[in-house]
Amino acid sequence: MSRLVVRGARIVDPSQNLDEVCDLVLVDGIVESIVDGGVQSDDAQVIEAKGLVAVPGFIDMHVHLREPGFEYKETIASGSHAAVAGGFTAVAAMANTDPPNDSAAVTEFILRKAAQARKARVYPIGSITKGMKGEELSEMGEMVEAGAVAVSDDGLPVDDVNVMRRAMEYATVFDIPVIEHCETPDLHPGGVMNEGYWSTALGLRGIPRASEEISVDRNIVLAEMTGARFHVAHLSTSGALRRVQEAKARGLGVTCEVTPHHLVLTDESVKSYDTSAKMKPPLVTESDRLALLQGLADGTVDAIATDHAPHHMDEKSEDFDHAPFGIVGLETAVSLCLDRLVRAGVISLSRMVELLSSGPARILGVPGGTLALGAPADVTLLDLERRVRVDPDTFASRGRNTPFAGWELTGSPAKTIVSGRVVWTRE
Ligand SMILES: [Zn+2]
Ligand SMILES: [Zn+2]
Repeated sequence: MSRLVVRGARIVDPSQNLDEVCDLVLVDGIVESIVDGGVQSDDAQVIEAKGLVAVPGFIDMHVHLREPGFEYKETIASGSHAAVAGGFTAVAAMANTDPPNDSAAVTEFILRKAAQARKARVYPIGSITKGMKGEELSEMGEMVEAGAVAVSDDGLPVDDVNVMRRAMEYATVFDIPVIEHCETPDLHPGGVMNEGYWSTALGLRGIPRASEEISVDRNIVLAEMTGARFHVAHLSTSGALRRVQEAKARGLGVTCEVTPHHLVLTDESVKSYDTSAKMKPPLVTESDRLALLQGLADGTVDAIATDHAPHHMDEKSEDFDHAPFGIVGLETAVSLCLDRLVRAGVISLSRMVELLSSGPARILGVPGGTLALGAPADVTLLDLERRVRVDPDTFASRGRNTPFAGWELTGSPAKTIVSGRVVWTRE
């Protein structure tokens, strides 16, 4: 029997309305008890956690681990290591690998690699269409059977409305969410940043905010028609948020996530042609950013997810038009949220924990997101006072492409526990 006691931490678990200094007892990979102190620890490994906060292990429901096919950018081993080094006990891996995850064989491969790495839990997301070509539906049943928890062609939107309709109908059979990268590419050939003041000033081709909103609209209509659970990936604009809010008010199964970068940056970050500020959807305006903050506070936003998208330095060193879209996020997200959201007074610590644990767990239908008795012993320990300076050279990820290099932030993950086993400790 393996027994781990986390002693004297402030336990913050919104799923149980808990915020109290207690001892947390983990036995054989599950939460055995939360006690008021004085727990017997003769036969246990003890973590002295006075001054730290223990929360349900964070779940990042949107990452790109790049394997198979793009191991020079990231591997399942390096990506799941980056996850635990960022305080995440689980991640959901998008399907846009090579080959894409459009079959049980690839889903099984991902799970096998993740098990070998023994870091974070990895939940594969299957593609919506075969080869992510947007034409023929993937074998959802086989992928779900093998362990896929959702479907998405993320990286690309599903353009064909009839294909999306059938995908939603099919997904309801397995009760999995359809996660869509909401973009309308025909609207902005060659667009590389938000269309507005800065794209004009910089002479770069724009992507109008309507690109996201048109797609969100279409998919909400389809979700209503099919009864599917529709999840908006990396929602970025105030107009899209308003549509999600209306859909929820009408009782539809619509959910959304936002990224830390859309919560703290605007398109002004592009002004020095910095390719680490190039991502999809693009960084938008201050009024969009403020709307997203409001959406966190009022409950419209269901999850914070990083859209961790590692690229090789050589790729990101291309000029702005040619560099690939995307930034890494696993090792900066928690400090950004603690500093810019909680310390800044935008949301409470408890709400932040919800957005990073029970929120994504509920959408994906995966275990975790709670420290209730009998739950998986996945725990993130936080040090709210720790000052950190973002240094990409220290990342466990193979990606170094972050706009946050050099940022000084207060608050950081301190230790990550997966299934009752300590998998990462901050030096
Ligand atoms: Zn995307
Ligand atoms: Zn993505």
